[in-house]
Amino acid sequence: MTDHLPDSLSRRDLLARSAFGALPLLGLPTAHGEAQPPRTARPPRTRDYVVEAAAALVYRNGAPQVIENASVRVRDNEIVEIREGRIAGTVARINATGQLLLPGLISGHTHAASGSPTRGLIEGGRSYQRPIELLEALPDDLLDDITAYNVAELLRSGCTTHVEMSLSLKQAQSYVRVARRWHVRGFPGGMVPGTARLFPIWRRTNDSALAASVPDTMAEIEANRVFAMAVNGAEDGLIRPMMTPHATDTHTPDTMRAVIAAARTLGNGIHTHLAQGAGEARVTQRLYQLAPAQWLESLGAFDGPFFGAHMTGATAADWDVMKRHGGVYAHCPSGGGAGNSSGSQPYPEALAAGVRTNVGIDTHSNDYIENLKLAVICGRARARLLNGATGSTLPLPSVQQAVYGATHVAADGLRRPDLGRIAVGAKADLCTIDVSGLLVGSGAVGPEPLNNLLYASGLAVRHVITQGYVQLFDGQLVVDNEARIAARGADAVRQIWAQLTSEGWFKG
Ligand SMILES: [Zn+2]
Repeated sequence: MTDHLPDSLSRRDLLARSAFGALPLLGLPTAHGEAQPPRTARPPRTRDYVVEAAAALVYRNGAPQVIENASVRVRDNEIVEIREGRIAGTVARINATGQLLLPGLISGHTHAASGSPTRGLIEGGRSYQRPIELLEALPDDLLDDITAYNVAELLRSGCTTHVEMSLSLKQAQSYVRVARRWHVRGFPGGMVPGTARLFPIWRRTNDSALAASVPDTMAEIEANRVFAMAVNGAEDGLIRPMMTPHATDTHTPDTMRAVIAAARTLGNGIHTHLAQGAGEARVTQRLYQLAPAQWLESLGAFDGPFFGAHMTGATAADWDVMKRHGGVYAHCPSGGGAGNSSGSQPYPEALAAGVRTNVGIDTHSNDYIENLKLAVICGRARARLLNGATGSTLPLPSVQQAVYGATHVAADGLRRPDLGRIAVGAKADLCTIDVSGLLVGSGAVGPEPLNNLLYASGLAVRHVITQGYVQLFDGQLVVDNEARIAARGADAVRQIWAQLTSEGWFKG
């Protein structure tokens, strides 16, 4: 592609052709004949630039819509201008020819550090428990190397905002160290009970283990609260900790009330696994005669933002509570790993119930675009099977619903109307995805580019920006040395593999 055009091509010709084509509008003579600054192959040096994309999902009159030939001006931490066509001036440009510009994608449920230590090991049905016990036992420097590898993956796939349930306070501290280095937007918390204490409480055979856990759980809640208060609002508001109880069946009324009180102090809400299976629902029925979401509601957990992950065991009562309070269901289609043994999750049911529904990462795949695809593909398969078998009329999830769930729907659930949309005054959290090239597009940007996401993966993401900071530029991580992040992540995870080998874990 050249910056110099034959004289016979008018500006209007270019606009017409670029509407459905890959012809760049950028760096060309304008109708006014003004000279254009040259494009550079480097990210802008300051937070003052224009992203020029073939298409963009912008937020206008209270709804998202796709526009063509989009120019989005970023200054400091926010979006200051949006236009179809070129924004004049000599400001720096980010070239997104052939690409779709979206708001930065929001994962409503991550356990960032657990991705690479479990991926590729658990798909045959082994438990992730031992790998994550070894992860938790690593010294901080090695834990940070694994956290960095996984957070880099999230950025690589356009996921700029993480509603992050680190598996312990120690892992939440690691997440925050990495997030602060790279201008990541995080809503982190350490899971309580943390992974070192969780399993005997969760998999108990009688409730005496739950009663005995209260003092240590209270101490964990307080330690998490103190850390969260210390970093709340850090990095110009990028870090906003939530309280993250593991689930309803690993808490008592007293510990959950302490979680809710801490969340109110922080002001960022609660993020938990919710109605993860029939077993959890049986526990809250047995102890309180309530569904999991009803029990949380009775304690006041829905007074602020609320994210509930999985909901595989949800009943109508749980969906009703979520809908009434604007809670967000974080649907995680790769939870349990690729081809997971726990089956599909109730995405069509959540949409049918009118609940705010996000696509979340969970643990093993940090490729947000792949998870968007899986949500739609598995959701449609689930709806068709259930409708055929039971006569229900569940909706077939669409890619538009998945993208909206990843953007403004999740932002609304966070009570952050300045996130998840491309609008003047919104925070400059953006990503661009090549929707025109080989395997994803047709050599040109098509008339309905959201559909091309169903053929994309995280590797099609080209530019990623959070709060105006460019983190990925032309497919390369620019906030750090990508090769070094991968090498250090490998060294740390090899220690886990070596220990598993010495324990005979792979022979199990
Ligand atoms: Zn989870």
